[in-house]
Amino acid sequence: MDIEQDKRFRDESTRFELRWNCEDCVYFDRDRNCAHGFPTHRHRRHRYEDPTARVFFCKEFDLI
Ligand code: SF4
Repeated sequence: MDIEQDKRFRDESTRFELRWNCEDCVYFDRDRNCAHGFPTHRHRRHRYEDPTARVFFCKEFDLI
């Protein structure tokens, strides 16, 4: 899913402690990145330090 990262998203993400990044996913492996072999660059936490970055949710995300 690809959505705009607007102020409401950022506010609610903080308020509800939303998790959607690879670092919070059970399939994340620090050495291999994604255990499923998916590209991770659009889902990594540091990408969202840029408040204009569009939000990409991974459909395989599974919370730790
Ligand atoms: S399944 Fe998706 S969210 Fe989880 S580590 Fe792989 S790319 Fe990241």
